[in-house]
Amino acid sequence: MDSRSTDSRYDYAIVGAGSAGCILANKLSADPRTRVLLLEAGPRDRSKEIRIPAAFSKLFKSKFDWDHETVPQEALGGRRIYVPRGKTLGGSSAMNAQMHIPGHPADFDPWPEGWDWQTMRPYLDAFEEESCSVAEPRDPNPMTRAFVESADGSGVARPSDLRPESLAGAGITRVHQRKGLRCTAADAWLKPARDRDNLTVLTDAQVLGIEFEGKRAVGVRHTQGHAAVGGELILSAGAIGSPHLLLAAGVGPAAELAEHGIEAVHDLPDVGRNLRDHPMAIMLWEASGKDSMFAAEKPGQLVKLLLQRRGMLTSNVGEAAAFLRSRDGLPAPDIELLFAPVLYLDEGLTKPDQHGFSTGVVCLRPRSVGSLTLRSADPGDKPAIDYALLTDADDLRVLMEGVARMRAIAATPPLSEIVERERAPAGEDVESWIRANVQTVYHPVGTCSLGKVVDDQLRVRGLEGVRVVDGSVIPDLMRGHPHAQISMLALRAADLITGRPPASSSDGTPRSARLSQRA
Ligand SMILES: Cc1cc2nc3c(=O)[nH]c(=O)nc-3n(C[C@H](O)[C@H](O)[C@H](O)COP(=O)(O)OP(=O)(O)OC[C@H]3O[C@@H](n4cnc5c(N)ncnc54)[C@H](O)[C@@H]3O)c2cc1C
Repeated sequence: MDSRSTDSRYDYAIVGAGSAGCILANKLSADPRTRVLLLEAGPRDRSKEIRIPAAFSKLFKSKFDWDHETVPQEALGGRRIYVPRGKTLGGSSAMNAQMHIPGHPADFDPWPEGWDWQTMRPYLDAFEEESCSVAEPRDPNPMTRAFVESADGSGVARPSDLRPESLAGAGITRVHQRKGLRCTAADAWLKPARDRDNLTVLTDAQVLGIEFEGKRAVGVRHTQGHAAVGGELILSAGAIGSPHLLLAAGVGPAAELAEHGIEAVHDLPDVGRNLRDHPMAIMLWEASGKDSMFAAEKPGQLVKLLLQRRGMLTSNVGEAAAFLRSRDGLPAPDIELLFAPVLYLDEGLTKPDQHGFSTGVVCLRPRSVGSLTLRSADPGDKPAIDYALLTDADDLRVLMEGVARMRAIAATPPLSEIVERERAPAGEDVESWIRANVQTVYHPVGTCSLGKVVDDQLRVRGLEGVRVVDGSVIPDLMRGHPHAQISMLALRAADLITGRPPASSSDGTPRSARLSQRA
C-alpha cells in the first residue's frame, strides 16, 4: 500500500480513505482488470490512540485531525464550535466513538426514489456480516447498566436493542471493534485488499485541485504530484472535505465563487448548502463508588487491555443510549440521551477530576440548517463552516425536553443511588446553559445532497465522470450515528458504479423481507 507511481490513468481515483472511501477501494478493486487509486491527505494509521477504544479524544487536535471549527454561532452568543474530522487511513472512523447505531427506517423518507429503506436494509446486513467490525462491547461499565435500568424504571425508555426496527428505548450500544480494539474502515475493508496489484494507496496526498476538460474530470492535483483519471473521479473526502474540494475546483454557486476570483466550471448553487449536525448538550453528574472511567488511565487497566483485551480501555466511552420522542405523534424518536460512564469535560480534552458520568442530550432531527463556504481560493485554507446551531427555536425545545427526561432517569434507582449531585446544568437556567454549552456529536452531513448536488446515481449534476460518495450526500440527519449509514451508502454506490443489481439475500429475497417473515 505504499507510494507507487501515479502517472498512468486510473479507472477510478478515490479521494479520501474514510468510512466510504475504504469500502469503495475494496469493492472497486475486486475486479483485477480495474486500476484503482486511493488518495488520502492524512498519514498512515500507526498510533496506539487509534487502536485503544477509550483513547479517541487523545486524537483530537493531533496530526490525525483536520481540527476545523465553525464561524461564530449567532444563536450561541458568538461562540465557535470545534469540528474534529479524521485525517488518516480510516478517516473519521479512526477517531470516532465506535457506536454502532444505524438509525431508523424513517431516516430514508427524505431520500430520493431508489434509496428507500427496503432497498437499503440489505446493505446494512452486508455491512454487519462482511466487515467483521460490529461487536458486542467487552466490558460495559456497571453504571451503564444502571442507566438502562433506570431509564426503564422511570418509564422514560423501555429496554431496546437499538436496531433500526426497534430503535425507541434504551440499550447498550454495539461497537465498531474487533477483540477489544477499534476496528476502522481501513482495518475492515482496506487492509484485506492491500496486496492487490491493481490498488494503489497514497497517504500524505491531499488533493488540491480537479482538472477538467470541458465538464469532464480528467485528473487531480495533489500534494505529491498529479494523477490522470481515465474513468471516474470519486470524492469520498467527507461532509466537509468533498464540498470544499468542489467549490475550490469551481463547482458551486458561481457568484460566490467569483468573489474569490474563481471561474465557475459549473454553476451548482447547492454545493455546501444544507449542512446539518446533531446538537448535543452534555449534562454532568458526580457519582459515588469507584466504577467510572476516572480510573481508566491506571496502569492496571493498560495491563488488562494488553493481556486480556478487557477492562475500561476497551470502552468506547459512549456506552449506551436512549431514544425517545419529545412529543406524541412523531413517527420516530427525536431525542437521544447518550450515556458515558465518565465526567466528559471540554470534549474529553480535560481529564475528569472525580468519579461521575455524563449524558449527552441530542436533538436528532434539528431544524437549524447551516452551510459551508470558501474562506479563500486557496484549497489549502480551511473552509468556513456555519452550523447555524439553534437558530431554529424548536431545536432548543427538544434539548430542554431531553434535559427534563434525563433528570427523571437520574432520580430513579439504581442510578439515583450513586448520584451525588448534578454538576451541570444544576441550578442554572436550562436555556442559557444549553446556549453556553451546546456542541455537536460530530456528525456533519448534507453538503452535497442527493437529489440536489448529486443525482440518484451519486453523479455530480452537470459534470461528467465525477461522483460523490460519503456523508455529504445524505440529505438529512439520521436518528442514530452515521458510520453505518455511510457504509451502507458506499456499498450501494459500489453496486451502482459496477452495474451490479441491488443487494438482496442469497435466495433473491431482500433480507429485510426475510427478517420480517421470521419475526
Ligand atoms: C470524534 C468523533 C466521534 C464520532 N462518533 C461516532 C460514533 O460513535 N458512531 C458513528 O457511527 N459515527 C461517529 N462519528 C461520525 C463518523 O465517524 C463519520 O460520520 C464518518 O466516519 C464519516 O465518513 P465519511 O466517509 O463521510 O468521511 P471520513 O471518514 O471523514 O473520511 C474522509 C477522508 O477524506 C480525507 N480527505 C479529506 N479531504 C481530502 C483531500 N482534499 N485529499 C485527500 N483526502 C482528503 C480525510 O482525511 C478522511 O480520511 C464520529 C465522528 C467523530 C469525528
